[in-house]
Amino acid sequence: EQAGTSTTNFKRKPVIIIVVGMAGSGKTTFLHRLVCHTQASNIRGYVMNLDPAVMTLPFSANIDIRDTVKYKEVMKQFNLGPNGGILTSLNLFATKFDEVISVIERRADQLDYVLVDTPGQIEIFTWSASGAIITEAFASTFPTVIAYVVDTPRSSSPVTFMSNMLYACSILYKTRLPVVLAFNKTDVAKHQFALEWMEDFEAFQAAVSSDESYTSTLSQSLCLVLDEFYKNLRTVGVSAVTGAGMEEFFKAIDAIAEEYMENY
Ligand code: GDP
Ligand code: MG
Repeated sequence: EQAGTSTTNFKRKPVIIIVVGMAGSGKTTFLHRLVCHTQASNIRGYVMNLDPAVMTLPFSANIDIRDTVKYKEVMKQFNLGPNGGILTSLNLFATKFDEVISVIERRADQLDYVLVDTPGQIEIFTWSASGAIITEAFASTFPTVIAYVVDTPRSSSPVTFMSNMLYACSILYKTRLPVVLAFNKTDVAKHQFALEWMEDFEAFQAAVSSDESYTSTLSQSLCLVLDEFYKNLRTVGVSAVTGAGMEEFFKAIDAIAEEYMENY
C-alpha cells in the first residue's frame, strides 16, 4: 500500500495480534479471555491456533493448525521427538500460509482483530524459520502487533525479570514489530513492581545489583539496553483467569495500530 492511504482504509483491515511468551506464561488462557472479551463487546474477532501439540483448547479456533497437520503422525513419520515434531509441523503449515492469508483477506471487511496463539515453547515460534515466515506474511499484509505475555509472579526477582525483558527485547529487534507487554496473572501478583522498575532505571539497577549472581558492569549495561527498549513498548497488567485488564489491552493495541499506521 502507498503512503497516505486513508485511515478509513486502514481500519477495515483486521489487526493481527500474535500472542507469544514463555511456556506456562498463560498464552492460551489469555487468548481464551480475549476471545470472551471480543464476544461480549461486539468486537469482531477471528481466532487462530498455531500450537500443533495442544490437547484441548478452551476456545474454538477459526483456523487450527491441528486440522491440517497431525503432530503425532509427523513425529512418527520423521522419527522426531516432541520439539522436533512441533517444529516440523509448523514448517509444514508455514508452506501453506499464503492460503491462510487469503482466507483472512477475504473476510477482512468483517474482522477487527485476528488473535493468534503460538506453541507453548517460545523459541519454536520466535527462533524458527517458519515462525519468521508466518510473522512476515502477517506483517506484510495487515497491521501486526506482538503481545508478549509475562508470567508476573515468576518474574518478581530482578534477574528473572531482566532475562524475560531481554527476551521480549530480542523479539522486538528480530521481528521489528510493535510489542505490547501483557503482565499476566495479576490475580496472583500485582505488576506494580515491574512498572516501578521500568520507570525508574536506578531502582531497577539497585535491585539487580543486590543480586550477587550478577556482575555489576554487565547488569549496568543490560539495564541501559532495557531502558531504551521500554521506550518502544506499551505495558498492561492482565489476568487471564479473572479477565482484568482486557479493555486496557485492546486500548493499547489500538493505540499502537494507529501509530503504526502512520509509517505503514
Ligand atoms: P501457555 O503455555 O503460555 O499457553 O500457558 P497456559 O495458558 O496453558 O497456562 C499455564 C498455566 O497458567 C495454567 O495452569 C493456567 O491455568 C495458568 N494461568 C494462566 N493465566 C493465568 C492467570 O491470569 N492467573 C492465574 N492464577 N493462572 C493463570
Ligand atoms: Mg498454550
